[in-house]
Amino acid sequence: MLITFWGVRGSVPWATAASIGHGCNTPCVEIRDARRGARLLLDAGSGIVGVGRSLGVEASAIPILLTHYHWDHTQGLPFFDPFYRPGWTPAIWAPRLRDIDEAWVRTIFENPFYPVPYDQLPARPLIQLVDGGDISVGGFDIRTLPLNHPGGAFAYRVAGAGGDLVYATDHEFGDAAIDEALGAFASGARAVILDAHFTPAELPAHKGWGHSSWRQCAEFAAGHDIGHLWLFHHRPGRTDIEMGAIEAAARAVFERTSAAREGVSFEIGSRSQNTPSW
Ligand SMILES: [Zn+2]
Ligand SMILES: [Zn+2]
Repeated sequence: MLITFWGVRGSVPWATAASIGHGCNTPCVEIRDARRGARLLLDAGSGIVGVGRSLGVEASAIPILLTHYHWDHTQGLPFFDPFYRPGWTPAIWAPRLRDIDEAWVRTIFENPFYPVPYDQLPARPLIQLVDGGDISVGGFDIRTLPLNHPGGAFAYRVAGAGGDLVYATDHEFGDAAIDEALGAFASGARAVILDAHFTPAELPAHKGWGHSSWRQCAEFAAGHDIGHLWLFHHRPGRTDIEMGAIEAAARAVFERTSAAREGVSFEIGSRSQNTPSW
């Protein structure tokens, strides 16, 4: 599996010159399995726009698996190029969180939020609800886990021939039962992407916001059998200099840590665990 970060910021794609090195788009992670020609997108923040622009002209099926519906994970959806390419077959896999159904997903495209209603999209995406448990999306076998986040969010563990990827963003550590479940869920994964929105100093003033600190992520990784930790969902405006200091501090807790950067890819394959980007 080749994993590419297209958006790594939380909350809002606020671009500043001092933070552009890590990228300022909101979450979107692409997984490709070249062997099977399969592709999967995790979340549809503003980073998904870049994915749409990167695709060739040949029509293909592109599943988008959402973790939840906060703006930062859905705001790129209406601007995803394949929805406007007749013959393409995109799909939106949408978690059923509380009363969420297909109608809520269609609303993202509706007046007054957006000028092209869902029913008029040239390549209308199929909307599939995700109830939890084990799912198969675009040929990928995926396990799901509910996280601790306002309104709910799902973590995903994507199985690969050379090892698994865990994507667990938008999670607030502190609920013992959920944290324990996440530990079991992530153990043995080759790479884990975690919500490191805050610094430890910022955390007390943001209790209940649904996010965690880089230190909590690093301690979690150190306490479980995890190959590599990717700090993700960076706070908007956090500068590249600050991100460098966070990455260094996190590595003192768990050495195999990187701060996710837009445009960076890494591979989980049978050949080697280490890739140039690590
Ligand atoms: Zn978020
Ligand atoms: Zn959220």
